[in-house]
Amino acid sequence: MKLKPVKGMQDILPEEVRRWQLVEARFRRAVELHGFAEVRTPLLEATELFQRSTGETTEVVEKQMFTLERGSESLSLRPEGTPSSARAYIHESVYAKQPVSRWYYLGPMFRAEQPQRGRQRQFHQAGCEIYGDAGPLCDAELIDMLYGLLSDLGVAGLKVSVNSLGGNESRARYRDALIAYFKPRAAELSPHAQERFEQNPLRVLDSKDERDRAVAKAAPSILELLTPDDRAHWQGLLDALDALGTPYEVDQQLVRGLDYYTRTTFEISTTSGAIGSQNALLGGGRYDDMIAGLGGPATPAIGFAMGLERVLLALGEFEAAPPAWVAVAPLAAPQQNPALKLAKRLRQQGFTVEVDGRGTSLKSMLRRANGGGARFCVVLGESELARDVVQLKDLARHEQEEVPLDQLVARLTARLTEPVTSTESEDRG
Ligand code: AMP
Repeated sequence: MKLKPVKGMQDILPEEVRRWQLVEARFRRAVELHGFAEVRTPLLEATELFQRSTGETTEVVEKQMFTLERGSESLSLRPEGTPSSARAYIHESVYAKQPVSRWYYLGPMFRAEQPQRGRQRQFHQAGCEIYGDAGPLCDAELIDMLYGLLSDLGVAGLKVSVNSLGGNESRARYRDALIAYFKPRAAELSPHAQERFEQNPLRVLDSKDERDRAVAKAAPSILELLTPDDRAHWQGLLDALDALGTPYEVDQQLVRGLDYYTRTTFEISTTSGAIGSQNALLGGGRYDDMIAGLGGPATPAIGFAMGLERVLLALGEFEAAPPAWVAVAPLAAPQQNPALKLAKRLRQQGFTVEVDGRGTSLKSMLRRANGGGARFCVVLGESELARDVVQLKDLARHEQEEVPLDQLVARLTARLTEPVTSTESEDRG
């Protein structure tokens, strides 16, 4: 039997990983320029962590967690990064040492969703969290950073949506208003929403069910119910985004699927059609009550998570070229150890080198070098070894020259800096 990966989980092979690394490197650079430092937390956490933060009535916790029982413990693979990061922040008492902390993470997340284009069971998120800053300026800064990152990467049709859910008081008013709105219309809702709307009416706004969407369309807006403080925060965000020149749209239905949001919520999607219906590239918002809810001191916080699969889908095909590399081909056994030593010296000079140690014909070694995309093949035979020279084959240019060993690095460097014309590289066999 041929073993397959688990449903909704994918292997990412080296050529594709290079594309990932390019996006990851741009992400790291953008967030590090904003003062974020990387945190790494375990993939497995107590199930209770997600119940208490992501929320027991969210779809993610209710239906999608990969949970395992071990002895008396219930453990779950993290469905998102924010709870683990918050747990670490509290557990390590970071609030006492560095009250304002900016963290970022990159890594796999797990949700048992129905797989489709842009939706997997193991997917990857890159995210940031800011702890200890309640003001709207950092909200605007995050949104602007992400808009800049995605536009610089070349994602087309970006749409930034923002909303505010207010703090506890505004949310309580909003809950009441929503329940009052849904109650007389309950029969039009999906069965799941009918069951849940009194417990978690915000969830209905986030439902993907057409029946719920139709009813939710005319639901009351939270923005009209905000307390003066929440309203000032919201206005502060919009003013800062205007000052930065970040384009945005206010979307009063944007509640996001997780329970913990307070005040600012945002999402960036692409309208280019490149990733079909799953067009949200990232989502985030404030969660000013989570740290206290998990047993830490009251600490405001905001974060987001960007789906790396989705960003890559949105970027479409692009080539991430491997570094130019050198194949070293010893013609016979006596040249094999000298070839190893030569490769080691070249690596010390910063070249990527592979030695062909299979002991096969030159033809076969050249086929491997060409097939693997090597730029050069350095051939070492008996007479070359005796004279301290090598045959340097420039595979992109179809040229060969004899080079004294002590000039090899200089020749390789010189050839790498002269541009190869496209006809030279096209007819490479
Ligand atoms: P969330 O953690 O649900 O707020 O999602 C944040 C972002 O993660 C989304 O905008 C997607 O880009 C990505 N994402 C969430 N769930 C999945 C999934 N099952 N497969 C792929 N990407 C996902």
